[in-house]
Amino acid sequence: MSAAAQDELNVYQSAEARFEIAAQKLGLEEGLYRYLQHPSKEITVYIPVGMDNGHLEVFTGYRVLHSTIRGPGKGGIRFAPDVSIDEVRALAAWMTWKCAVVNIPFGGAKGGVICDPNKMSRGELERVTRRYTAELSEWFGPERDVPAPDIGTNDQIMAWVMDTYAMHVRQATTAVVTGKPLDLGGSRGRREATGRGLMICCDKALAKLRMKREGCRVIIQGFGNVGSQAADLMHKAGYKIIGVADIHGGLYNTNGFDIPKLIDWVYGQKKPLPEFPGGGEKMSAQEVLFHPCEILVPAATENQITTQNVHRVECRILCEGANGPTTSHADGVIEQKGVFIVPDILGNAGGVTVSYFEWVQDRQGFFWRESEVNERLQDVMEQSFDQVVQSAETHRVNNRIAAYIVAIDRVARALKLRGIYA
Ligand code: NAD
Repeated sequence: MSAAAQDELNVYQSAEARFEIAAQKLGLEEGLYRYLQHPSKEITVYIPVGMDNGHLEVFTGYRVLHSTIRGPGKGGIRFAPDVSIDEVRALAAWMTWKCAVVNIPFGGAKGGVICDPNKMSRGELERVTRRYTAELSEWFGPERDVPAPDIGTNDQIMAWVMDTYAMHVRQATTAVVTGKPLDLGGSRGRREATGRGLMICCDKALAKLRMKREGCRVIIQGFGNVGSQAADLMHKAGYKIIGVADIHGGLYNTNGFDIPKLIDWVYGQKKPLPEFPGGGEKMSAQEVLFHPCEILVPAATENQITTQNVHRVECRILCEGANGPTTSHADGVIEQKGVFIVPDILGNAGGVTVSYFEWVQDRQGFFWRESEVNERLQDVMEQSFDQVVQSAETHRVNNRIAAYIVAIDRVARALKLRGIYA
């Protein structure tokens, strides 16, 4: 791969490029620019784990705290073989901007462990999680840094994080982590929250463009927590899901998929998505992105739409469920094509918004009805969407840069009020 191509795929550089454009448009002072460009803290931990076969393995893990200006750090923990410090750094910065876009009182953080959870036993995963948490027990805390699930981690892993932390501080502390099981202080509606937030953004984008839900063709790449929940909710709401994909490959069917049956196939029967008997043309997981549709939802992983393929995008609305699915180098072509973009830091912010609700409920010790959670999520997403679109019109920029402008402005104002200590 050429150096230029490598640069394009560096997510940290992608995040920086957008930050720089937005900061310039906003006229951010040079000192504040330098401050916000850097993370606040980074740590690497080496995690010794006794494997089931008797060997001792050492895994590498990271945690990056980008900002605590507006509140405690907030951000998921990713377990994946290709985790890198640059990726975690970019994801941490995105969390700062995401929490600010939806105006919830958190900063930004992210963590990751280089491992392949698909090849590890439950016991091995538990030991990695507990040792990683133990190493970071002084960083984490409801008022310091609050992790959540991300790729390769789930509610069970959050339960182990919570328990390990609680053992170290010698008191039950459910608010140290979000995305927990319901029986352990999780929030109703959290599992669906990111998908629901995406659908709310799609509804708003359709209204803005005077388009209708009925018959609206949707392609979703990624069928994990975000992709499958978005597909399910959108299918039930009358959208037509014509393309789906996961790590095993993609399927395309202009008649639309029966999503509850597909969910049962993948999660109930544990069969590979591309083998779904409901029909459809088989293709690679990436190819599915380049078929005609009204709404394209990349909800798998980073760097899916690049300068190499962006000219093949054929959607009217690009609603980003994954973090960083479009490289900054591809932004220009998306804009030239007149695609209406719902950027990741807005589109997938439903997850962190309900994580915030979970944190609030844990601290109150009082839990809300699901309808209450969904209603509040709807308010937050709709208001944030409107603010981003308004900012795009005021500053004459695309929605992505507009979202960064809203976020940077909020963080910079808080920073000015707090001042620089020492
Ligand atoms: P997950 O692990 O539950 O699911 C990931 C899905 O993507 C799986 O279906 C997997 O097979 C598929 N996938 C992985 N690599 C792929 C590839 N190269 N091509 C096609 N499919 C691929 O993860 P998730 O929680 O659904 O997260 C997905 C994305 O959304 C990530 O970028 C994550 O950071 C982001 N996100 C998640 C949440 C959340 O609440 N879970 C919130 C905000 C953002």
